[in-house]
Amino acid sequence: MRVLIGELKQETSSFNPRLAERELFEELCGDEIFSREGTNTELAGALDVFAEHDDIEVVPAFAAWSCSSGPVATSTLDGLTDDLVTAVQAEKDDIDGAYISFHGAMQGEEEVDPEGRALDRIRAILGDIPIVTSFDLHGILTDRLVYASDILVAFHTYPHVDMYETRARAARNLVRLLRREVEPTVARVQLPMLVRGDELITETGLFGQAIRTCQEVEASDGGLSAVVFIGNPFTDVPDLRTNVVVTTNNDAVRAKEVAESIARFMWNQRDHLKADLVELDEAIRIANETESLTVFFDAADATSSGAPGDSNHILRGLLQSGYDRRALLPLVDPPAVEQAFAAGVGATVSLSLGGAIDPDRHPPLACDAYVQSLHDGVYRMEGGTLESGGRTAVLQVSSYSILVTTLPVSIMGPHVFESRGLNPVDFDLCVCKSPNGFRTHFQAIAESIVPVDVPGSTSANLRSLPCTRCPRPMFPLDDDVTASIEAVVKE
Ligand SMILES: [Zn+2]
Repeated sequence: MRVLIGELKQETSSFNPRLAERELFEELCGDEIFSREGTNTELAGALDVFAEHDDIEVVPAFAAWSCSSGPVATSTLDGLTDDLVTAVQAEKDDIDGAYISFHGAMQGEEEVDPEGRALDRIRAILGDIPIVTSFDLHGILTDRLVYASDILVAFHTYPHVDMYETRARAARNLVRLLRREVEPTVARVQLPMLVRGDELITETGLFGQAIRTCQEVEASDGGLSAVVFIGNPFTDVPDLRTNVVVTTNNDAVRAKEVAESIARFMWNQRDHLKADLVELDEAIRIANETESLTVFFDAADATSSGAPGDSNHILRGLLQSGYDRRALLPLVDPPAVEQAFAAGVGATVSLSLGGAIDPDRHPPLACDAYVQSLHDGVYRMEGGTLESGGRTAVLQVSSYSILVTTLPVSIMGPHVFESRGLNPVDFDLCVCKSPNGFRTHFQAIAESIVPVDVPGSTSANLRSLPCTRCPRPMFPLDDDVTASIEAVVKE
């Protein structure tokens, strides 16, 4: 049997004004996809499962993915979609099944359902054969995706650590479909809610309880897939909401019952699924009273969530408050880096910091900065991969060291700072532009961790986001939102 595989993944923050262009994407064509076998991410989990079956031949089509960013430029999105669809078209003869991997929260400059559009085209080419899809749990589920997938699966962990296992589950489901061992029945509940905050951490939080119910369903006889899609609150599209999807082996009553019970749990817990944020003044007061390292996390400008990384709100607040201890802050600001390189190490330059990409949200801040060091920007992340922030300058402003990069970098661990000679434990305050991922590495070295409420395109203060396209009323954007917990079974 011949199984076609493909991938199209990106996560969009609609409020990042910079469009994602094609150079942001990594792409693999045909056999190049096999180069990812053996890694703990991406398609490897599926490839390993297919390899266990002698009678299954994998037909690699096309894979493209990028880091989180702004909406995808129309020409880039059309080009990537055409490349995926063309690769499917070229291999369509004698294909018995397909597995397509998505993130699910991608938005185009114009297209609001890029994954649904791509999957519709693939379904039209391949016809009535089994198609399984996989998603990030932040995916936004549209009718097109539900109807064009026979079975869909998604991550069960936040922060996400089960990329490999999710793809393996997708592949195992596809194998069962190919062998005609199962007949999927899909029940779906749509909830008018967006969630945020620490209770989403699946290992310790309330959301984990819903996920464990999903895992029990999947481990049981006749349970094929159970998923809670919480959506990405920063992808402002007409289908943004929370979805619960349960797929059983031809058991509509059970699929409906389980989907409704998980959805009811999520809805009843909604008041706990919000982020508790601290005003900047109060955060600075806490930092002043903390003896050793304080970490401020600025989820509003999290590059890992698709924000541009150019927010200067905390820098401005620290300067205005007269905070005079040692602080370490990251900032994406290409023009400031250029000026620092032009002036050279040891020079003092007058420049503006912040707002290089989103000046309306982050008005540039004029200041004098001492150029402490200059770098090519390459560094090794905690996971071992090499990353680049493009040309990078360390600037000294007041008693603060500012790591200024040309490209967005993920602030997950201290390596990004250490590789430029800046060790967070040598500071009194360190800013992490990350919603949660940073905890793995910073929890152990920080005396206090403060979620700061400052403006940004990925703010956990969801009411601060300028949502115009998502359905309303929506919890927590509106007051007194009601939900009807009723599963619809796919015909
Ligand atoms: Zn995610």
